[in-house]
Amino acid sequence: MNPTLEIFSQGEEIVTGQTVDTNAAWLAQEAIHCGFTVTRHTAVGDKLTDLINLLNDIAARADCCICTGGLGPTSDDLTAEAVASAFNRPLEFDDIAFEQIKEFFDRRNRPMPEVNKKQALLPQTAKRIDNTWGTAPGFALQHQRCWFVFLPGVPSEMKGLFLEHVKPDLLTRFTLQPPHLVSLKTLGLGESAIQELIKDIKIPDTIELGFRAGTDDVQTKLLFPFDYPKTDLDSLVTEFSECLGDYVFAIDGLEEPTGDLAFEIDKLMTAKNHTLAIIETASHGLLAAKCVGYDWLIQASYEKSVAVSTQKLNAEELMAIAKNLALKTQENTRASAILVQLYTGDPGALRDKNKSIQVLSFLLIDKAFYQTTHFILGPISRKQNQATLLSLDLLRRYLQDKLI
Ligand code: ATP
Repeated sequence: MNPTLEIFSQGEEIVTGQTVDTNAAWLAQEAIHCGFTVTRHTAVGDKLTDLINLLNDIAARADCCICTGGLGPTSDDLTAEAVASAFNRPLEFDDIAFEQIKEFFDRRNRPMPEVNKKQALLPQTAKRIDNTWGTAPGFALQHQRCWFVFLPGVPSEMKGLFLEHVKPDLLTRFTLQPPHLVSLKTLGLGESAIQELIKDIKIPDTIELGFRAGTDDVQTKLLFPFDYPKTDLDSLVTEFSECLGDYVFAIDGLEEPTGDLAFEIDKLMTAKNHTLAIIETASHGLLAAKCVGYDWLIQASYEKSVAVSTQKLNAEELMAIAKNLALKTQENTRASAILVQLYTGDPGALRDKNKSIQVLSFLLIDKAFYQTTHFILGPISRKQNQATLLSLDLLRRYLQDKLI
């Protein structure tokens, strides 16, 4: 049996929905990957008795609890006080925590407000968790059955403290059998299309299948138990990969770490020593933005005049224009790969969520031409994002030898 873990988010703004509880979602994923069974998420507002009651309930039923928020300097930050009352551990002034808080302000050339002194008060015998990202130190302690960890609410601080201090400690404190997660990342297929493609695969009961549709990919997730044989795991992943075919741009959870589409393209562009110039229309600069920071991108432009003048052309005329633009751009930039994106559609179709545009992606690389066309429907932000990904995906397919 895996140890159980609960997540508890503190703050009136979480309970009232003014802040979406992204901390709980992130921590739950981390905890599952460590090998915990996450049993419950709770959000509690700024009421001391509610906090005390919840802490006592969790102490009796969970093996571990991670709490975020309520460690700030203001009067509505009640976590340390609630812990002190619930577990009968009076708050004590921690000199090291105080020095760290003072240093935080000194480094920024700001005087430390008197209220911040409160953040150096920790429940008796609690283990301090140093915070180099902000002012509030975290702390951890055992009460009854449960190991409690208290972290600041600001997501960047919470993640920093968790990854640097909490996770390594949990991995030694508990006997954990982390499951093995494999995610097949695809582009161009919806969840139902994926379901259809994989419907004949026999999935053993011990494996959990799930899907996650994001803006930049759809992930098919396979969660294998800790002791699942590696050869069986590999053959099931291969079976999934074959069913999903060229749509798979990366498989996470095997040997090499993977990233988003641009990250995968980066690996191949660098290995193959390519450089890229981009002409984009429907994506309005988003295509360039996805590639910013990669050395192989040498030029990118949004061509409004091209976008306007090509909107009423047929596919053949569009192709001829794309080819001409690609050849001219290659001559001017000397980039080894040229990606041209054009689109057609009714006047106003780009801004009309009920009208589709047809996007042509055209690639000139290694003296050969490749193209794809796609219809995209929906609000302009979706059209821009999809046009970006589909154009980039043409380049990815070439680099992964998936275009004939
Ligand atoms: P600090 O001392 O740095 O303010 P804190 O522990 O007091 O830390 P809170 O005051 O509870 O943290 O929250 C600070 C900010 O962090 C909130 O205004 C909110 O923007 C964000 N935040 C808090 N809790 C969450 C959460 N569960 N999910 C996402 N964001 C959160």
